[in-house]
This record gives sequence, C-alpha cells and structure tokens, in this order.
Amino acid sequence: MAAASSTSEGETSAWPRVRCCGKSYSYYCPVCYKSLAPPGVAIPDVTLPLSVAVMLKDGRQRSTAMHAPVLAPRDVRVYEHPDYAGLPESFDAENCVVAFPSDDAVPWTALDGLARVRTLILIDSPWQQAQKALALPQLAGLRRVKIDKPPAQVQFWRVAAHDSAGHLSTIEALALLLKEHAAATGSNFDSDPLLFFFSLMRSRILEYHDRKEERREREGLAPGRTPFDPERRDRFRRRFIQKERTAAPGKLKYGKPLAAATGEEEEEAQAEPDPT
Ligand SMILES: [Zn+2]
Repeated sequence: MAAASSTSEGETSAWPRVRCCGKSYSYYCPVCYKSLAPPGVAIPDVTLPLSVAVMLKDGRQRSTAMHAPVLAPRDVRVYEHPDYAGLPESFDAENCVVAFPSDDAVPWTALDGLARVRTLILIDSPWQQAQKALALPQLAGLRRVKIDKPPAQVQFWRVAAHDSAGHLSTIEALALLLKEHAAATGSNFDSDPLLFFFSLMRSRILEYHDRKEERREREGLAPGRTPFDPERRDRFRRRFIQKERTAAPGKLKYGKPLAAATGEEEEEAQAEPDPT
C-alpha cells in the first residue's frame, strides 16, 4: 500500500495510458475494473467489511465509484443505469441499507441492528438525480444511512454545478461511510486504501496547477487560485449555471457534467474544474 505515495521525489502521479476494453485509460479500466498500474507499482487489494452495490448513473469513465471494484474486487458489484442489469430481485431490509442523505437517514451509530448489516447500496449520481434509483422496488423499502461527520474541507477537484454545499465524490463518501462503520462496530478496518486512485488523481490535478503557477510566475502574472479555492469554485459554478440557462432556457439540468470534463476521451484527472 506504500504505492499510494508514488508521487514521492522525482516521480509523478501520471501513469502511462494503457489500452483496455477498446479504449485507452490511465490508472484503471472502468469497464473490466482491471488496474493499469505500471510495472512495479502495487495497488491495494482491499477486503471490505460490507458488500457494496453501486447503482451507477454517471458515465463509467467519470465516476470515482469505479475505483471501488478495482480496489475491492471481491466485495463490490456495479449495476448500471438505465436497466441496472444483474440487480438482485430484492434486498433483505434487515441487512441491506442505502447510503443517502435524506431526512430519514441515520448515521451508523443510530441504526437498529447494525451488526446484522451486510450490504451497503451506493447511489452514484448527483443527489438531485438519485430519486429514480431510490424508487426502484428493490430499494424503496430499505433503510437509509448517512455520513455522520462530513469533512469540512473539499478534496474533490470537480465542482458540482448545483451543489454549493461541500461536495464529496462517491469514493470519498464510501471510504468515509466505511470508516464510520468501523468506528461504530469497533472494527479496525482501514478505509484509506480505497482512496488510492483518488489521491493519485488529486496529486495530478495539483501538479497540473503547480505547472500552471510556474508559468504564471515566469510571465510575471499574479498567482492563480488552486482548484480547491472556494471563491474560484463559486465563480465556476455561477458561470456553468449561466451557460446552462443560455443553452436551454427554463430547463435546468441538475448535476450536469462540467463543461471542462464532458469530452468522452478526456481523462478525468486531467480535467481542471476551471478551464481558464
Ligand atoms: Zn478493461
């Protein structure tokens, strides 16, 4: 797991792109969940305390939820919108819960029969678009859990256009939920390795930013803002919403992908939240 810090001296978080399942990807293949690590780089092999079912709405290539089946292949299943093929006909309401921050959701510590929970269902879509998945007969009657202590600091580079509150990527939400689950059940499960690719991609965004800053300095320009700067994120969000209104007046699409990261072939980690 030491490979998580493969951004140490002289190294870069960029991995060469490798072809898999008909396209080329860095880091891992979001179709067959194979790691595409360069030779000599070991990726974590995680055993989760719960089975995880991912209800995938966003594209595979953009979704950080796809890190989970790569890092914990034995415990994660992905079911894809719109037909969610392979989804079990029903889940047992006793031992399956849905992660979703609705009013009736509770943290693990307030969940009755916590020890019996075996499966966690994750909805990988902007929260505003999750209602369709939540209404599936398999999910409708299940209890909901939520993160007890969301982090104060945003780590995710992508800006959610319609979510001005703190924004967590799906893999961060999963890691945090499993961390809180471990605390609530007294287990010593370590969820940090689930953030292996997330940390790598984040490093890459920051390296990209640093290179841009060096360029600005050479050109005598004032320092720019980091991709995590709240003001910069707000500015980007406003501009994005404005663009959306112009494109389809009166018809706002919640959680639409970033303008900067909608290219099919574009690699997520390279996409800057703000293209300027
Ligand atoms: Zn593949």
